[in-house]
Amino acid sequence: MRKYLGSCHCGGVRFEIESDFPELTMCDCSICKRRNALMVKVHESRFRLVSGEDLLTEYQFHSKTARHYFCKVCGIYPFHRKRVTPDHFGVNVHCLDGFSPEGIPLRRADGAAMP
Ligand SMILES: [Zn+2]
Repeated sequence: MRKYLGSCHCGGVRFEIESDFPELTMCDCSICKRRNALMVKVHESRFRLVSGEDLLTEYQFHSKTARHYFCKVCGIYPFHRKRVTPDHFGVNVHCLDGFSPEGIPLRRADGAAMP
């Protein structure tokens, strides 16, 4: 397990995750496509919000199961609660300090085809 600290752009939202990074995901659903995120899936027990709870804005659409969070100061998407596995977070790896996606398998999720 590797531990990373993550943050939004303004630094108001800070969080910590632990993962072995078995794979990274890109998704072609309507929201992921627009935010162009590269994500890692992390169980909620390996996710800790360090600061910025008051800065997070939640956005929901379609089935209203997934919970997409944004920093209301800088607009960055740091993580979301997943739809199919709501006890997991999808984390934007570009928000992680010192993280390199080099060498990690990339999976393209077919979110657009989900009912
Ligand atoms: Zn921010």
